[in-house]
Amino acid sequence: MELVENFINGQYVSSDSSAFIDIYEPATGDIYGKFKDSNANDIDHAVRSAKNAFPDWSGLSIRERAVHLNNIANGIEQRLDEFAEFESRDTGKPIALARSLDIPRSVLNFKFFADHAMQFEFNFNLNSESSQNLINRSPLGVVACISPWNLPLYLFTWKIAPALITGNTVIAKPSELTPYTAYLLGGVCREKGLPPGVLNIVNGRGDTCGELLVKHEDVKAISFTGGTATGKLISKSASKTFKKLSLEMGGKNPAIIFDDCDYDSMLDNIVRSSFSNQGQICLCSSRLLIEQTIYEKFKKDLTLKVLELVIGDPSKIETQFGSVCSEGHLQKVLNYIALAKKEGGKVIAGGKIVELEGRCSNGWFIEPTLVEDLGPSSRVNQEEIFGPVVTLQPFDSEADAIEHANNTDYGLSATVWTEDIEKGKRVAKRIDAGVIWINCWLLRDLRTPFGGMKNSGLGREGGDDALKFFTEAKNICVPA
Ligand code: NAD
Repeated sequence: MELVENFINGQYVSSDSSAFIDIYEPATGDIYGKFKDSNANDIDHAVRSAKNAFPDWSGLSIRERAVHLNNIANGIEQRLDEFAEFESRDTGKPIALARSLDIPRSVLNFKFFADHAMQFEFNFNLNSESSQNLINRSPLGVVACISPWNLPLYLFTWKIAPALITGNTVIAKPSELTPYTAYLLGGVCREKGLPPGVLNIVNGRGDTCGELLVKHEDVKAISFTGGTATGKLISKSASKTFKKLSLEMGGKNPAIIFDDCDYDSMLDNIVRSSFSNQGQICLCSSRLLIEQTIYEKFKKDLTLKVLELVIGDPSKIETQFGSVCSEGHLQKVLNYIALAKKEGGKVIAGGKIVELEGRCSNGWFIEPTLVEDLGPSSRVNQEEIFGPVVTLQPFDSEADAIEHANNTDYGLSATVWTEDIEKGKRVAKRIDAGVIWINCWLLRDLRTPFGGMKNSGLGREGGDDALKFFTEAKNICVPA
């Protein structure tokens, strides 16, 4: 039985909490490890360590901090296979995805921010006839990063890297469902000589350990990615101490498919955007809006493609579709499929638990599922499922497609499929979402703003936005 410990002040330390949390391998349903649900003493310890480390760390130059970030990136890269194996074990995602997406992107997060911060103006002058202004951006102090289970190390490091490069010291909490690669990251930081206290990693439940972090008066900012309901709770708790907040939350992302698209490329990408990571990426398409003229053909072709997906043991390299992340999540997805039927929907592919033989016979697998005949205001078309369930809805005109796409409280991402790029851009401008991809999906330039509108987010991550979030602007003014 593995024991996952907190990483505080440069060392793995045991919590004095008496509450243990089991860690499951979702592909087998087995418990492989446990950790303690960190309590107020642990959080105080982490905050003290981060506060002690702050003067020296924030006193380094960007270039010096960038060396540390690059060293951490190299440390993960050197152990890429090991990180990928454990990411797949914690989440049930195919090992091929962990190797090609999760871990390389975690490496890139550190490398990108190390490089990007070098080009960012932390100090600049704005002079006029009457005044000379020196604008300076300085770190906030101790900040907290809270991340979810779907892309564990990828999203964890996406927050930690900009927080560190800007000179903050960090307390980071991974999801209680997927703590392992965050645990390994602590070891990499120690091996690579990151000064003690600069990055502290605490484990625990959201409503215990997470909330203690959010309420702590010495924590100056919270960068959170997770569900919208949690974002609301955090927002309420954090307002008492006026913390800076960045909230990346849920989505119900539309894909608008016009009949003039590059059909084969669209079809392959729709399978990817709907079912990568078993549909558990916040950016996954969950509402497919299809121009009426190609609806029947698309439905038939998509069904065939979905049936071809190789579902199986995530540790096998040929697996394309693994398990969902937890038993609770499996039940949630099944409940939505039952609701879809109750609401008058027709399941045209999938919809059932997958029974596998051998090692994964007790794992939490569910078929990739397609549903049609549901109205735009049905609960299944309104609420985030965050699993392998997508709906198909026909549309008649550009205006109709835009109206359908915007008919939700969420506004994270969207895709538009058309060979008429002008039309694509025209439609994109009218969609209420933070990221809109035309003829592609998950194509990321890390300099671009990333985040959601409406109930999907507050603030933006990525590039300059992240560097601004983790710093405070100060204007020093003298008469000209
Ligand atoms: P979640 O909200 O349950 O948990 C996310 C993190 O918040 C976990 O570390 C959890 O322990 C912590 N947490 C929970 N309650 C808390 C509280 N009261 N105070 C402080 N921390 C608390 O989300 P999840 O189930 O882990 O992740 C799935 C959700 O994340 C989906 O809604 C998905 O869309 C969203 N997500 C969004 C993005 C994005 O970029 N917008 C990316 C990935 C996932």
